[in-house]
Amino acid sequence: MSTTTTNITIDFDDVSDEDRALIDSLTPAELEDARQFASAAAEMCLTRIARAKATEIRTLPPVDCAPWCVDHDGHPGVTHQVDQWCGSDAQTVNVSYYPAVEQTDGSYIPERVTVFGMCRPSMQAWVQVTLGDLEGVQLTPDEARELAQALLVFAEVVTTDEAAGS
Ligand SMILES: [Zn+2]
Repeated sequence: MSTTTTNITIDFDDVSDEDRALIDSLTPAELEDARQFASAAAEMCLTRIARAKATEIRTLPPVDCAPWCVDHDGHPGVTHQVDQWCGSDAQTVNVSYYPAVEQTDGSYIPERVTVFGMCRPSMQAWVQVTLGDLEGVQLTPDEARELAQALLVFAEVVTTDEAAGS
């Protein structure tokens, strides 16, 4: 394995006379230890700077956000296009036919369906419907309207059945 040696000049202008006398008292072996320590420290700093620069180069430029994006900052500083997605505010509906979800403090909250808008660059926006933490369903705007209509229809159907059966 080859290594690149970086020569670094240390400016002693800021060192006090007392410290300078202490430095001058170091043995050649101690100076060599110090030189190796400084070299390792410099190498670590250079590696970190190089990694930070490489990461900076790989980040994607901001995208044009959807007008309803809650972030609305173009999602800068990410390295993968899949992370540059726009999301709208969400609406949630508690769903009582599912078991309540235990929280870390031991309390329970109802399971819920969450609905919000999403889009990614170069893709048509969609309506995202999720149940709890599950993957959920992606709907085009027309499909979302159709589903909304179906929900209204069947909410009426089962309500009518309940009324007729009672
Ligand atoms: Zn956005």
